[in-house]
Order: sequence, then C-alpha cells, then structure tokens
Amino acid sequence: MEPDLIEIFGSYMPYKITDDTWVISFMNGSEYMYLLEGNEKALLLDTGYGAGNLRAFVERLTDKPILVANTHYHPDHSAGNGEFEEVMVSENWEMDAPSLESPQGTPFDISRLPNPDYKKAVIGDGDLIDLGNRVIKVLDVAPAHCNSSLFFYDEKSEMIFVGDEFEAGQVNLFDNSNNPDAPYDVRQRLDNFKENALKIKSLRTRYILPNHNGTPIAECYLDDFIGLVDGIYSGESKIEDKLNHKYIEMDPKAPTLCRVRYGNASIFINKELLMSVYGKRD
Ligand SMILES: [Zn+2]
Repeated sequence: MEPDLIEIFGSYMPYKITDDTWVISFMNGSEYMYLLEGNEKALLLDTGYGAGNLRAFVERLTDKPILVANTHYHPDHSAGNGEFEEVMVSENWEMDAPSLESPQGTPFDISRLPNPDYKKAVIGDGDLIDLGNRVIKVLDVAPAHCNSSLFFYDEKSEMIFVGDEFEAGQVNLFDNSNNPDAPYDVRQRLDNFKENALKIKSLRTRYILPNHNGTPIAECYLDDFIGLVDGIYSGESKIEDKLNHKYIEMDPKAPTLCRVRYGNASIFINKELLMSVYGKRD
C-alpha cells in the first residue's frame, strides 16, 4: 500500500499559546508553523511541505487577511509558498532554494500549487510587519543552520520566532543547502551560531519559538548552545558518532556527520570539518 502523503506531511493540529498566537503543529507534533493575529491582519510563518491544503486550513483559523513569511527557505518551511500569491523571504533565499530539489526535499509536485510563480517580497533587518496593534520586527540572522534565516520578533508579546536556528532536539549545522556554490566555512558557522544566540539573549523574550521538537523552549538552551561552541574550541563538548535520529540517518550525508552535545544543547555537523577546529581556539 502506498503511504498517504497528506496524512504524513499535511495533517495539521492547531493550538493557541496566547490569545492571538497559534501553533500549527504537524509531522506528528515534531514540526510547527505559526499564525500571529493582529487587529487587522494575520501573519503565517512558514508554509510546510506543499501538500496543497494549508491555505484552506489557515483560513479556518482566522478571518483576517493573511500575510505569509518564511523563517528560511528549506523545503519543510517554504514548499507550500505556491498556495499564496506573495511570500516574504530573506534576500538569501536563492542560496537555499536547491534544498527543495534534494531527495529529502518535498514528496509533492509543488509546480501544481495554485501560484507556482508567487511573488517573493524580500525583507530584512529592521523591517516591520504591522498586523494592527501588533508589530513584528524582522531581524537578520548570521548564516548558521542555513543561509536564508530570519528571526521574527514581537517585542510587545516578548516572542521571538527562530526557525531552525535553535531547538531542543538538535540543530543541523552541516551544509544542507544542496547548493555547491553556497559558502560554508565551519568556524564561521559556529561563530555565527554563537552570535545569534547572544543576539536573542540581548532581547527581552518570554517565548523562544523554534519550528521543531518542542515549542517554546527555555532560554537556558541558548546558554548551552553558547557553551557548546566554546566547548568545541576548548575540546570540552562531547562528540558522538551515533546520531540517534531516524530521519537524518536516512540522509546520504549521515555517515559524514556526528552529534555534538553540551548540557541540553546538541547539533549535527560534518565530523571531519568539526575536527579541523575542535580543541583549537583559532
Ligand atoms: Zn531548516
């Protein structure tokens, strides 16, 4: 029997974490999109795998006009963009666009969505998305998990939406762009990763909202991610060759990866590149 792809990739379970903020949980509760409502408009953060049934679902949650933005341009966050006429994206979206064509991309033919040539509205640091008595500030992200991440900061509600840059399971810090032309320097990625954590810590936040493996997460994860980077350079972070992750283990890159842990924080990264900086402060 063929697996039911809609059942796997396009079954959504919504719940509110505040009166005007929905979590749209999918992939058996391991992945999330968000719907932020203001007085006049709503903002959908991410569009899933492109199963084709997201827009109708979200329109049942809100009667406000829906703006759409991507936390980053990976297939499980942006493949459904073609359900909408316009999507706000990072200026670096093209660098990660080949990830949609990788075998781990999406199982759906997204050229069949209603707007395969949807308009991309580029947004970046300091841009404000006004939903009516609720303003979301866009923050640039130094490339770590990927090249095209943006943070979305709701200062009044003390919420920050962090995409895949931080999460409680593990952050993928290996090159996942599927783009041989995209730059990737392991030390730079690790430094950027730490810089992004410090940036969030400098903000007033009550809710840190990732897109995978539990939401919201406590600020102590950020401290552990900072410790993890420092611990790589000091040789104190723990390296494990066994990934213990069902899906990443299916990735052809899996044999080249390792898991690194520090406290509650964990990453997947290319082991050979990691060892080129492990225990080396500069
Ligand atoms: Zn991602």
